[in-house]
Amino acid sequence: QLYNQIQEAKGNIRVFCRCRPLSKEEASSGYATVVDFNAAKDGDLGILTGCSTKKSYKFDRVYTPKDDQVDVFADASPMVTSVLDGYNVCIFAYGQTGTGKTFTMEGTEQNRGVNYRTLEQLFKIAEERKDTFAYKISVSVLEVYNEQIRDLLATSPTSKKLEIRQASEGVHRVPGIVEARVENIKEVWDVLQAGSNARAVGSNNVNEHSSRSHCMLCIMVGAKNLINGECTQSKLWLVDLAGSERLAKTEAQGDRLKEALNINRSLSALGDVISALASKSSHIPYRNSKLTHLLQDSLGGDSKTLMFVQISPSEQDLGETASSLNFASRVR
Ligand code: ADP
Ligand code: MG
Repeated sequence: QLYNQIQEAKGNIRVFCRCRPLSKEEASSGYATVVDFNAAKDGDLGILTGCSTKKSYKFDRVYTPKDDQVDVFADASPMVTSVLDGYNVCIFAYGQTGTGKTFTMEGTEQNRGVNYRTLEQLFKIAEERKDTFAYKISVSVLEVYNEQIRDLLATSPTSKKLEIRQASEGVHRVPGIVEARVENIKEVWDVLQAGSNARAVGSNNVNEHSSRSHCMLCIMVGAKNLINGECTQSKLWLVDLAGSERLAKTEAQGDRLKEALNINRSLSALGDVISALASKSSHIPYRNSKLTHLLQDSLGGDSKTLMFVQISPSEQDLGETASSLNFASRVR
């Protein structure tokens, strides 16, 4: 409750910045760390852009390489819980390939990320509230690649093109996609793995493919208030975005160019939507990409948005780091 009041006072967009550790290879190649975490506790982050020049940024939270999945989820969890109170929520990870987007969202079996922890939290609170609310939770897993939607939970491939339709005011759906009902946390990991495995099908390089597509988990929550009979539907999107890195000039041809243009288009559409929302603009350009069109119900209105901007500490990534931090400042 208090959290929701604070949220309303501050607006509905939060930006958390997370920096991954310097890898062993980077350390042994002698790359320096260019990120300054001295004031990370206050949400301040600096990057050293020259021998005596520093550029500063301000976020709602800054996570250093020492912060773990538990620390990160602790701050995201109030927003997750608000889905059970009827809010739509969108949490996404933005950044250059290799900065930890998948680590933050998906995590690993030993170090589970936001996606799994979110469902765990939803089941836990649903259980605590079971005398007053009956909740139904289902999940869909989609991928958007080259402006096309693919259902990662579909058991048989269909040639039918998936499209976004408006079902009613503020309710967008993709007719025909699988909405897997999950009854408890034990079923969740399998569903998430199935989605993750399906991403690999039909691509010869899984890592490359996943860095060029958006992976989108949608959690739908139906709530029935057992005291007054009132029913609500809400939706939580958890998105691992395509890598934000700019294409090297040498690669700028053929399929690679087409992919890059589509990524660029959807990420800038996302930036445009969020900055239009932040500046309370009367026109919000949701329709400019599949990504923003899918997320429409969970961006704007009284829905809550959390962006993780993921960065690398290494001096060799300074250009991309600066560009990600600038993107994030624009939406905040
Ligand atoms: P992205 O999805 O942005 O391309 P990944 O999530 O695949 O990046 O991360 C790249 C590598 O860095 C992986 O090996 C991952 O395990 C590791 N990594 C990323 N963030 C962290 C972190 N906060 N702590 C430890 N390892 C991390
Ligand atoms: Mg990834």
